[in-house]
Amino acid sequence: MLDKTLADYFPTSDPPSSIPDPVAADSLKPEAPPAGMVEDPVCHRHVETANSTIRADYEGKTFHFCSEECKEIFQVNPAPYGKAA
Ligand SMILES: [Zn+2]
Repeated sequence: MLDKTLADYFPTSDPPSSIPDPVAADSLKPEAPPAGMVEDPVCHRHVETANSTIRADYEGKTFHFCSEECKEIFQVNPAPYGKAA
């Protein structure tokens, strides 16, 4: 039964709204890959450039991919991915 009040979960006088919401805070900033990693433009996973062997050059830029599948998708139609800054 849901017979507990908020006071049972928050015995101090702090209102529940004072609890930080990590999901909301995270959504405020754009998702940037960690240092040494780039975003796979096809599936948006983060790929380590140091170990990356699956890559393609397009319009002077090098793109890294998590898998040959993503690379193939990119190479078939690179325009929508390659123009992303
Ligand atoms: Zn991928």
